Amino acid sequence: MPSCRFCSSTYPREQFIHGNGPMTQVCVRCGLEKGLVSKEDAANMYDGGLGSARLQTLARRYSIFLYIPLLWTLWIMVIKDVQPWGLYFLLILLALTLLTPVWFIYRGGQYSGDMARLTPAYDRPKGH
Ligand SMILES: [Zn+2]
Repeated sequence: MPSCRFCSSTYPREQFIHGNGPMTQVCVRCGLEKGLVSKEDAANMYDGGLGSARLQTLARRYSIFLYIPLLWTLWIMVIKDVQPWGLYFLLILLALTLLTPVWFIYRGGQYSGDMARLTPAYDRPKGH
């Protein structure tokens, strides 16, 4: 992956502006800040709405891994010693924990589709 001349950050090729001379190896963020491109040209510089939509998609995909430990903690702290509900919830929790990776893999295609839909079109310059 190339790195930006100004901020030295490493990004995928999609995050760089097109052009030669002063526009070589400049990321979109620096390109906008130095006035090398207009905001319309830098379509891959995500606007606020698109950014939050992408974050939402990402959060929806990974939030389950936040809930599982939380539910286990709640079970241990609150309901473990309650008869017979402790046992019932333990079984539900076990099933949920075992099904989560399966569900995660199953939903992978949907996730990449959503992310592709939320990624602006970018035409790669020749030679890259
Ligand atoms: Zn930069």
